Amino acid sequence: MRRILSGLGLMLVIVCCASAALSATTAKETAFEAVERNKGEIAKVGDAIYSFAELGMQEIETSKLCADLLKSIGYDVKTGIAGFPTAIMATYGSGKPVLAVHIEYDAVPSGSQQTGALERKEIVPGAPGHAEGHNTNAAAWMGAAFAVKEAIDKHKLRGTVKFFTAPAEEQLVSRPFFVRDGYFKDVDAAFHVHVGETLSTSYGIRQYALVSVEYEFFGKTAHSGTSPWTGASAVDAAKLMDIGWDVLREHLPPTQRSHSVIVNGGVQPNVVPDRAKIWFFFREATYEGANNLFTKADKVAEGAALMTGTTWKRNVLSACWPTRDNKIMGELVQSNIELVGMPVWSEDEQKLAKAIQKVAGGEQKGLAMKISPLKEAKQGTSSNDSGDITWTVPHGRITIPSNVGNVPGHHWAATIAVATSIAHKGEVAGAKVLAGSMVDLLTNPDLLAKAKETFKKEVGGATYKPLLPPDQKPPLSLNTEEMAKYRDLMKPHYRRAPIQFK
Ligand SMILES: [Zn+2]
Repeated sequence: MRRILSGLGLMLVIVCCASAALSATTAKETAFEAVERNKGEIAKVGDAIYSFAELGMQEIETSKLCADLLKSIGYDVKTGIAGFPTAIMATYGSGKPVLAVHIEYDAVPSGSQQTGALERKEIVPGAPGHAEGHNTNAAAWMGAAFAVKEAIDKHKLRGTVKFFTAPAEEQLVSRPFFVRDGYFKDVDAAFHVHVGETLSTSYGIRQYALVSVEYEFFGKTAHSGTSPWTGASAVDAAKLMDIGWDVLREHLPPTQRSHSVIVNGGVQPNVVPDRAKIWFFFREATYEGANNLFTKADKVAEGAALMTGTTWKRNVLSACWPTRDNKIMGELVQSNIELVGMPVWSEDEQKLAKAIQKVAGGEQKGLAMKISPLKEAKQGTSSNDSGDITWTVPHGRITIPSNVGNVPGHHWAATIAVATSIAHKGEVAGAKVLAGSMVDLLTNPDLLAKAKETFKKEVGGATYKPLLPPDQKPPLSLNTEEMAKYRDLMKPHYRRAPIQFK
């Protein structure tokens, strides 16, 4: 009897697995068809955001376009989450599992460049531009949002999907606030989509932890010529803090990376300055390491204030954990990468890529033809504000081939391709990989359980706690002045073709 029952159990498991696999396959077909049908609309999303080219915290047109589109395709859209006016959380579906996707869509200063132009041709001189290609992240993400919804509807899939936008990635700002404020509490797994030169993913720890903090000093004004001894120079304090930190550097672990700029260094020499501000990035391989640097910097600020008779306060603009990705999520993304495959590039696209590489001084290798194998990440010294999410839930990253390799990041030449057919093909591939990976998790609970189990082992004894102070508010004024210089000049160049997903 027992043998018959266990035999029946085995059959049930086989039938269930087979039906899960079947529903995943058909639901994926639905999602991929939805992406193909809408590839023109997906391209328009990326191109519109390319033309808005808004700096971090100033993504006003960009967030409006995304929020309106998501509403039009049936998502429940909340804007202004965690106190960020240009952040979005768009939700569809119901119940468990809850899957999240997050992207950044900010531009970089001085990146303005005409699409496809091989010499320096700014759309608006000095204006920001998408020299990192974050506009393509949003296009792939939007395509997946439409495709996953269609798969959920058509195949009655259970589960909730949440599409987030994260303002000001270039200043590493928003996602630690999202996590601190509980937006990922009910999330079971999350994905990040980011532009690159390959269709790829990885697992393990990828980047550094970072604390971005401004130290402001307050002194006393005086006539620098007649009675400087009655004043207290805030700029002297900022300089001493910089020197103090540089001296301390010798006694810091060689793994650390720290850098500073004096953002307020006084107005004119005849007045002893009563205000000064120095902005530091403290980076380390671990949360503890970054926190340790930050604690030491407070002491250096205190010392600088004591030496100059000034006072000080600090403002943490952002603080994030090192990014990491789960191995099961990496394998899942890789299986969908292999299913989707690299875009097929035309001769003209290869020619353009090589010409871009030539003007940027890079090796003229053209565009990648093959997908990259899954590999364990090597930890680099850059940072991304998605780190906090990656220590909270099992996380997978998808790099999409929407830009040309061998071009330095943030260089104007990195803007040339990100609204061309190269970018568009990468966006379509990315939307499919993302939608396919989400369908897999929605249809295969065992896979999600495995991701969660391995995630626990991977993070080991580490308990996530925000590096961000509990009362820290988002830096709302970031880039306001810089964007205001260019916005009106950029408006005539906005690409506002109607977008209608169908
Ligand atoms: Zn980026």
